[in-house]
Amino acid sequence: MSIQVIIEKCTGCTLCVKACPFDAIRMMEKKAAIDLNRCTLCGACIPACKFKAILIEKSQATCILPDSKAYKDIWVFIEQKKGKVQSVAYELLGKAHELAKVLQCQVSGVLIGHDLQDQLDEIIWHGADNIYLVEAPELANFQDEPYTNILVELIKKHKPEILLCGATAIGRSLISRVAINIKAGLTADCTGLDIDREKKILLQTRPAFGGNIMATIISPNYRPQMATVRHKVMQPITPDKHRKGKIIKESFDSSLYFSRTKLLDIVEEVETLVNIAEADIIVSGGRGMGQQENFKLLENFAHVLGAAVGSSRAAVDSGWMPYSHQVGQTGRTVSPKIYFACGISGQIQHLVGMQSSKIIIAINKDSEAPIFRVATYGIVGDLFQVIPALTKKFKEVLKR
Ligand SMILES: Cc1cc2nc3c(=O)[nH]c(=O)nc-3n(C[C@H](O)[C@H](O)[C@H](O)COP(=O)(O)OP(=O)(O)OC[C@H]3O[C@@H](n4cnc5c(N)ncnc54)[C@H](O)[C@@H]3O)c2cc1C
Repeated sequence: MSIQVIIEKCTGCTLCVKACPFDAIRMMEKKAAIDLNRCTLCGACIPACKFKAILIEKSQATCILPDSKAYKDIWVFIEQKKGKVQSVAYELLGKAHELAKVLQCQVSGVLIGHDLQDQLDEIIWHGADNIYLVEAPELANFQDEPYTNILVELIKKHKPEILLCGATAIGRSLISRVAINIKAGLTADCTGLDIDREKKILLQTRPAFGGNIMATIISPNYRPQMATVRHKVMQPITPDKHRKGKIIKESFDSSLYFSRTKLLDIVEEVETLVNIAEADIIVSGGRGMGQQENFKLLENFAHVLGAAVGSSRAAVDSGWMPYSHQVGQTGRTVSPKIYFACGISGQIQHLVGMQSSKIIIAINKDSEAPIFRVATYGIVGDLFQVIPALTKKFKEVLKR
């Protein structure tokens, strides 16, 4: 693609300068000039220019659009490790199930590996109508090349309309390769997915511009529409053991399973700290904790509740807590049964990491703090009084 200003038509009105989100247009001698190092060809300047003085030219290759009517159904890449389906896949099936009701289509899981028969029922109970199953001994563990080749072939053959994948180490590596291969768009790290009821396209919401705004992204022209979602952002449906589904076994020429890399060994990471992503209760502290020593208060409280300790980025940046405890856009996404936010104001970058928690209890001395807008229960008060009082009471009630 290329962009150009048609000088004869440009009146120097500066509307395009205001419309450009990347600050890529300047006025030079009363005419618009585009800085190609900054321009991303996003096209925001085109409708802004009333004089049709800016032109984006698409190359021949990018103009060949797929026939979107030939694509149907929602697919979920079912991530497995050591033959066990990972919970992120069930979360995505839950979302796909919800979206499929709007599109009135089916949900299919794509499961690649070896000896996976014992996993199939659970996938169907969690919302899949079909499972595309590809099994071979050499596919037992994830490897970039064979998994990409297989997924690409399946997409070409069956043409899904939407493809969802976990924003995990495996998912990120796989799906970006698939997107390049089939020349489709990909929206990474979505925090919300919905369907445009009129146009029947996927609305993919994610933080943008450094987390300062939430952007809703669409892929109107290319198929499938592809998105990744982090673990714990979506909720799985309650498994329904009466659900029935179809298993579609696929196999490919062994050349497709070839990998230039060789898997030598899988070394389990040793968790030295409490894994906040898996905890049922999290007690998080923010800048309001004042100093590192005060996190002892939270640790005592967490100990009584059997909870993990989390924190805001402000507390991590201050050196009070290690990064592995940070909740939020640049930290972990969590979805515990109960989330205590203590001395945390509730900025959007923190909220995207914890707002799907079942119960949120906020303790803050500022009654106007944004955290109270998402809180199930709010305690307006000084945390240095509230937390010891809660710790004492829970100790009595829970007899700890
Ligand atoms: C690109 C980007 C990514 C980011 N990623 C993250 C992320 O992953 N996670 C994250 O958390 N932030 C993230 N941030 C930072 C975020 O914008 C906020 O700055 C941060 O969340 C604020 O942390 P806080 O709520 O602890 O601090 P503050 O906003 O300073 O809030 C402190 C709160 O404590 C309250 N308080 C003070 N004393 C007491 C007391 N004694 N008792 C009760 N309440 C008290 C105050 O009323 C206030 O509401 C990111 C920012 C950017 C730009």
